[in-house]
Amino acid sequence: LVSRENHPDRSVVRVGGVPIGPGTMTLIAGPCAVETPEQTLGAAQMAQAAGATLLRGGAFKPRTSPYAFQGLGEKGLRILAEVRAETGMPIVTEVVDANDVDLVSSYADMLQVGTRNMQNFALLQAVGGAGRPVMLKRGFNATIEEWLMAAEYIAQRGNLDIVLCERGIRTFEKATRNTLDISAVPVAQRMSHLPVIIDPSHSGGRRELVLPLTRAAIAVGADGVIIDVHPHPEQALCDGPQALVNGDLRELAKTVRELPPLV
Ligand code: PEP
Repeated sequence: LVSRENHPDRSVVRVGGVPIGPGTMTLIAGPCAVETPEQTLGAAQMAQAAGATLLRGGAFKPRTSPYAFQGLGEKGLRILAEVRAETGMPIVTEVVDANDVDLVSSYADMLQVGTRNMQNFALLQAVGGAGRPVMLKRGFNATIEEWLMAAEYIAQRGNLDIVLCERGIRTFEKATRNTLDISAVPVAQRMSHLPVIIDPSHSGGRRELVLPLTRAAIAVGADGVIIDVHPHPEQALCDGPQALVNGDLRELAKTVRELPPLV
């Protein structure tokens, strides 16, 4: 279903009217985690001023350590909905448990399945039946073939509104959090008709890598990028070192505007 063999034209996925697909270079930005109404609105306004058309923000956070901030849950979803009402930006947010899919879908415009859950087949089937577009991150240990098979689980439930997101894989290299597999973009686009975006924030893990990795994404023809921003990264409860602030974000937005997307 997701293979390009039976579907030669690349697909466009619409999220609350915002297209992601060939030639779009959609900018998705927002806080890693929803912390407070002020922080989320501040991040959304920064993102929107820079040209982002979709707002990201985690209410359910899949953290490596059980002692780390786990997200605000439904309270975070309510904050996202308030910020959408204020800014008009559709919301992309993660769901980590199949039992929460109905709840998260009642707030979200797009459901995100994170790297740790790429092969959580019950979750994939549940999001496939939720009637919302899905962003499927590549598992940090997964091959491209396995990633596409995970997308197939969603598609099998009747949902072809899937966007693939390359967010770095685990290699021997320790200089970055994960190694952004930039070649996955053209490879996945050849194998599948689904749009492919990258997450330079979670792959690099450091804000100074976000702009160069975004340039790389544009150069290889990615259909968008998803980026962490925070009004006060030094106070962030999650992944502050990778969050962009206003100046960096403006430079990134300029790059996105000036480098024409490949179709
Ligand atoms: C995220 O985008 O909030 C996230 C946790 O990303 P990943 O699943 O890629 O680690």
